[in-house]
Amino acid sequence: MTNVLDTLIVGAGISGLSLAHALHRQATSASPLKILVTEGQGRVGGNITTSTAGGFLWEEGPNSFSPTAELMKLAVDVGLKQELIFADRKLPRYVYWQGKLQPVPMTPPAMIQSKLLSFPGKLRALFGALGFVGPAMGDRLSQQGGEETVSQFFRRHLGTEVMQRLVEPFVSGVYAGDPQQLSAAAAFGRVTKMADAGGGLVAGALLSAKKRPQKMPVDANIPQTKPGELGSFKQGLKALPEAIASELADRLKLNWHLTRLQPTENKTYIAEFSTPDGQKQVEARTVVLTTPAYVTAELLEPLQPEVSSALQALTYPTVASVVLAYPLSDVKGKLEGFGNLIPRGQGIRTLGTIWTSSLFPDRAPAGWQTLTSYIGGATDSEIGNLDPEQIVREVHRDLSRILLKPDAAQPKVLTVHLWKRAIPQYNLGHLQRLQQIEKGLESLPGMYLCSNYLGGVALGDCVRRGFERAIEVSEYLQNQQ
Ligand SMILES: Cc1cc2nc3c(=O)[nH]c(=O)nc-3n(C[C@H](O)[C@H](O)[C@H](O)COP(=O)(O)OP(=O)(O)OC[C@H]3O[C@@H](n4cnc5c(N)ncnc54)[C@H](O)[C@@H]3O)c2cc1C
Repeated sequence: MTNVLDTLIVGAGISGLSLAHALHRQATSASPLKILVTEGQGRVGGNITTSTAGGFLWEEGPNSFSPTAELMKLAVDVGLKQELIFADRKLPRYVYWQGKLQPVPMTPPAMIQSKLLSFPGKLRALFGALGFVGPAMGDRLSQQGGEETVSQFFRRHLGTEVMQRLVEPFVSGVYAGDPQQLSAAAAFGRVTKMADAGGGLVAGALLSAKKRPQKMPVDANIPQTKPGELGSFKQGLKALPEAIASELADRLKLNWHLTRLQPTENKTYIAEFSTPDGQKQVEARTVVLTTPAYVTAELLEPLQPEVSSALQALTYPTVASVVLAYPLSDVKGKLEGFGNLIPRGQGIRTLGTIWTSSLFPDRAPAGWQTLTSYIGGATDSEIGNLDPEQIVREVHRDLSRILLKPDAAQPKVLTVHLWKRAIPQYNLGHLQRLQQIEKGLESLPGMYLCSNYLGGVALGDCVRRGFERAIEVSEYLQNQQ
């Protein structure tokens, strides 16, 4: 068994790389771990796709991260401390409502003054937050297995206006999802737990804050950040996967596409890859699949059909990420803010726009504004049928109504990246599917999943899960010895 790997990690997106980094760091020279990361594409990063040209720098996938403790530790550990950059956390976020950009109220006084909600809408939200909330009930709910959608939950707790004007655009921003399909408990677990804690969301939030475990001890080497801050790296998000890849050196193989997995009688797995040098096989005691659900479903179908069918039920809508540059003279006023989200029903097809060069100013040459718009998602599957020129026309028309002067010229198109299957949807039944997956995996000892369909899609969630899975894998390996 000398050539047998301890761990094979399939996929070099942020999930696989965080896990590999943690395993690599955990192993001591006294007990080194034999690990291998294999990636089907010719580059690392998965969804993380930073591009540069003509003095512009832009992201085609994730745009920034919330600086969670684990993500910050990872960045510092791989030598990126001096490369970290943060957008001004006071930059407002806007919602386009009835022809105007309205700032999203971030504090109770701002909520009182906000023009985004009517006076009755604010009162409704206040009463709901204080606990004057009806029970979840109705025929539809029983048809849904007793589970509320995001739309039902927030309408019940905070009223229709908050749902339509704040929650729905937020849901577009994170999941490109449909609030009438997303499960409240799966997509907003922390919020629904607060409500369950009793007495409405305000009391629930206070109770949860009391129960929250003490903060991790402050590590003087890790830059401290404040809530609401958004981070990146001077050279873009791809700096992080690339730094981890350098650390892994020859423990990482690019263009190695996993095609088949087989368990052996020795409690190991044989993995078969198609590579530029032909078919390759490796044997490993543990395997971690960080591939998207639809890929993992195919790989596990012959080994564990129940896990496979639960994974197949996960949907990923199509989203186009469109990065356009305009001369500043074409933009209405100075764009100072994070960007704007657009609730449905406002006659605008684009889901939202990040004012990229306002957020991170060095990313466009002087005199230019870059705008990253997302269009498509769970409520607009037609987007996948348009060609890039048509998609640019749709986005440019929307931007002309919201951010540009009426005579704005055609933009410089930096990218139209069509993500055919963008973000996993935590729809009704998601938590049950995860249980089915967990149970099914019991019959495949040493097989682990670690991907963004398991408890959070944000980059910080992926890093946290990578670290957690690394502990589980090394405990399993120790118990096998
Ligand atoms: C358009 C868009 C915008 C987003 N914006 C943000 C944002 O601003 N902030 C944020 O925090 N999050 C954002 N997200 C979410 C976040 O980017 C993802 O959840 C995260 O990057 C997922 O990482 P992952 O490693 O789990 O999966 P992936 O990045 O999908 O990595 C999986 C890897 O597996 C590889 N692979 C697949 N099949 C095989 C095979 N058979 N053999 C070998 N390798 C294989 C793939 O090539 C890929 O590299 C966004 C996502 C998208 C799509």
